[in-house]
Amino acid sequence: MKSRIAIERCSVALAAALALGAGAVVAQDSDNTLGDPRTHAERGLQAAVDFPGYANLCDLNMTFRNVNRLVTDPPAVREPGAQARGNAGGRQRGGAASVPPPAQVFDNLFFVGSQSVSSWLLGTEDGYILIDAMNTDQEAQSIIEAGIVSLGLDPARIRYLLITHAHGDHFGGHNYISDAIAPRIVMSEDDWDLASRLAEHPRFGLPPAKDLSVNDGDQLTSGTTTLDIRVTPGHTPGTISPVFTVYDNGTPYRAMLWGGTGFNFGPNYEQMRAYAASANRMKQIAIEENVQVFISNHARRDGSLEKIGMLSGRGSGDPHPFVQGEELAGVFDVLEQCALAQAARIRNGDL
Ligand SMILES: [Zn+2]
Repeated sequence: MKSRIAIERCSVALAAALALGAGAVVAQDSDNTLGDPRTHAERGLQAAVDFPGYANLCDLNMTFRNVNRLVTDPPAVREPGAQARGNAGGRQRGGAASVPPPAQVFDNLFFVGSQSVSSWLLGTEDGYILIDAMNTDQEAQSIIEAGIVSLGLDPARIRYLLITHAHGDHFGGHNYISDAIAPRIVMSEDDWDLASRLAEHPRFGLPPAKDLSVNDGDQLTSGTTTLDIRVTPGHTPGTISPVFTVYDNGTPYRAMLWGGTGFNFGPNYEQMRAYAASANRMKQIAIEENVQVFISNHARRDGSLEKIGMLSGRGSGDPHPFVQGEELAGVFDVLEQCALAQAARIRNGDL
């Protein structure tokens, strides 16, 4: 019995490696013995008390949508009367009024995003790295570029556009950024591959043509800013979760951006296990590197808009709302345990 389980574990790891493609980072999650969905969900929800934006990952009634529509897939069946919204129209739900003002969050980190999807600018005037390009060229112009300018910064100093993963809400505005600024566009090899196979999507700009490919452990340097590339397979095969240093009035803190959050890749057992393994691995890295700032590229996940709101009333000597202590590690328990809960559901055929 024991050896059969061992073989099963091996084949799961092998299947995950094959599914993720060559060069993928395959880590082990902490508990290879997959338990009951409910047990994992309870652990996840317990940890989510401090991270409410991630709690719904543990929803055991979640439907596993797959947003990765490939060119080889049959065409989508359109609802009668539905209209494609197109790239030019953008996707500002609720209109322009719903776009929050851009904000300086740390000395060298700036929020330029909407209620639904975030773009972060990292660096100083000697060279910036822009993380993600939002849904469309229109958003890239009116929210990212205009936001950077209104913060008094120069978008022409962006050297790299790092795209966390090959989904349209993160790469959709790359064309405008390329035309206006011409930074190198950076993704992981696996997500360049995914991008090359994605079908056109009515809500997002087209995927970028392949540019710079990075691997786990690489560093991206722009002026005096350096960002560590961590590849965290799960949300997509090559999601990047960058780690970097932010400064609060000169005091440095290590920060991490979880590059892809939702379980929207269909009922894929191996990918769900890879997600859990990535969360576990990044927890170890966060502990080793004393990461104290955890952000997302979706504001409703990390509560960044509420925290930005707290920044304006902050007195000298008050703690920074984005800086956390040891409790930060708990967010990885949410990510890992919820992924294990969903993996167990898929294993059980409980879809
Ligand atoms: Zn995504």
